[in-house]
Amino acid sequence: QAKSAGRNNYKFYTADMNARAAERLSLEATLRRAFEGSEFLLHYQPQLDLDSGRIVGAEALIRWQNPKRGLVPPSRFIPVAEESRLIVPIGNWALREACRQAREWLDRGLPPLTIAVNLSALQFQQANLTELIASMLDEYGLPPSALELEVTESVVMQEVDRVVKTLASLKELGVKLAIDDFGTGYSSLAYLKRFSFDKLKIDRSFVHDLGTDRNDEAICLAIVGLAKVLGLKCIAEGVETQAQAIFLLAAGCDEMQGFLAAEPLTADRFATLLEQSRQPDFRLIPAAQGLT
Ligand code: C2E
Ligand code: MG
Ligand code: MG
Ligand code: MG
Repeated sequence: QAKSAGRNNYKFYTADMNARAAERLSLEATLRRAFEGSEFLLHYQPQLDLDSGRIVGAEALIRWQNPKRGLVPPSRFIPVAEESRLIVPIGNWALREACRQAREWLDRGLPPLTIAVNLSALQFQQANLTELIASMLDEYGLPPSALELEVTESVVMQEVDRVVKTLASLKELGVKLAIDDFGTGYSSLAYLKRFSFDKLKIDRSFVHDLGTDRNDEAICLAIVGLAKVLGLKCIAEGVETQAQAIFLLAAGCDEMQGFLAAEPLTADRFATLLEQSRQPDFRLIPAAQGLT
């Protein structure tokens, strides 16, 4: 087909590629300006103890608020941020902003929480990562255990000796470490044992069809079991229904995150929720009925 397409089509194709490259470059330039113009913000999604329904943490999720484009989700700009390495300053900003917010909530007397922040592979490669995080915690007077770093299996699959070193120094600092989107990457179980993670996050693709897909149910059971034998906490992402939550609770999963409880919220709305969560009978998800 390529042959019969001929010269004109080939030109057309390169023109299209040029257009795409130009679009990418312009998005990159726009992102750079957005960063300089402070157009990024964080939303916070509650993480709950499945059993008690109480809030135990929050995942900070970046958003781009642009006058022309509106509120842009990460899927629309993180790939370009990664390619251009802008993810390093932007992601570091997110880390610091999450620390600042955690301090503000503590100062307002709101219940203490663990704040989870996503760390891209390029950020993870920063030579001074542990010092950088230590200085942020210090600046805001936060205990290291109030911060959890989420990395994906792609991060873990970099040069092993360096990864071991970095994870060990973060662990020594006292921050918590979670593997995000667990089950979708290529990390080996041997690494899982060797690296000192605290938590596995079951990818939401395995959660979606709980109740109808026996394979996904088996995968979730296996991940929870793996977490248990390795002494790790387990949290399920993307929990949207009570049936999914009940399955996960019965499977022994510790925590959940998802639209069933709340979508990612603005800092103000999250603070309001935290305020309400002080009530002794507070639950963000219905209690599981008829479970033993
Ligand atoms: P992630 O870390 O796996 O975040 C979970 C994603 O699932 C979030 O998408 C969240 O809004 C979405 N989600 C939560 N509950 C549900 C649910 O019940 N159903 C469904 N369908 N989705 C749910 P979001 O906010 O669009 O973020 C996408 C990804 O962007 C994140 O995936 C993370 O990899 C990346 N990201 C977000 N913030 C940052 C950041 O500050 N730094 C870095 N490096 N990456 C970030
Ligand atoms: Mg995450
Ligand atoms: Mg995830
Ligand atoms: Mg529990």
